Amino acid sequence: MDRTHVDGVMLPGLTDHHVHAALIEPERMLAAGVTTVVDLGWAPDDIWPLADRSRHDPKLPHIRAAGPFLTTPGGYPTRQEWAPPGIALEVDDPASAAQAVESLVAHHPVTIKVALNSEAGPVVDDVTLDAIVRTAAGHGIPVTAHTQGPGQVHRAHRAGVRVLAHTPWTEELDDKLIAELASDTTIISTIDIHGWGEPTRDRTVALRNLHRFHSFGGVVHYGTDFGNGPLPPGVDVGEISALTEAGLHPTDILRAITEKPLGMGAAADVSAVPGDPTANPAVLGRAITVLKAG
Ligand SMILES: [Zn+2]
Repeated sequence: MDRTHVDGVMLPGLTDHHVHAALIEPERMLAAGVTTVVDLGWAPDDIWPLADRSRHDPKLPHIRAAGPFLTTPGGYPTRQEWAPPGIALEVDDPASAAQAVESLVAHHPVTIKVALNSEAGPVVDDVTLDAIVRTAAGHGIPVTAHTQGPGQVHRAHRAGVRVLAHTPWTEELDDKLIAELASDTTIISTIDIHGWGEPTRDRTVALRNLHRFHSFGGVVHYGTDFGNGPLPPGVDVGEISALTEAGLHPTDILRAITEKPLGMGAAADVSAVPGDPTANPAVLGRAITVLKAG
């Protein structure tokens, strides 16, 4: 067995829980210490082969994919400039929703991604949303929602969606909803997409929501939405400082960005950083050694 000398701190591999891998160079994510990325929505012809390839290509991080979005006809993201054909399965009643979820199951999606963006077009109605969640749950697959527009977070939670792809930024959520979310829902942070370090209204609202969610004990996952925005692939130190701003301590940030602890004798993803991330989480952006399935 090879020996590796590392002058730094070894960590379980880093995970970015929200990317669009076909829009970035995923190899650069791995080189930066991100050994797993979660692709939250892309056209099946591109994303399933890429995810399959990531299983044995040592240059790629593990790519865990949702496949296409589920949305209503004409809903987000079907009219977005960046959206390729096949980006979404358009469903408009419980039967078509169930059928769409069933059609994805053979690809072992890591989650089912639903668009609830009422600012960009129509959204699925409650009975259709319920059918998506119910069918996915029947296969043990969680549902992740893009929620944007007044009331959409509440709708998602009521239906049983238990992962939010972004920290909500449309409105400041009331304490009752925040407490419910904190009890059973994971929020993927993606704060930095609002201004990329410049102060914006959406960033402020998202930070306030995440701060309360975290203080109520909610589970936060680090995610960047890379593929959307100007930053080069890697670790977004702006996202890490946003997590600090939202009240996460360095150990909370490590929990949000790392995979499960390393197991004795198990194949492991490892990232080594040049300093103690519990003292300075910004070192997470400067990986010096990365091992995928070492
Ligand atoms: Zn996204």
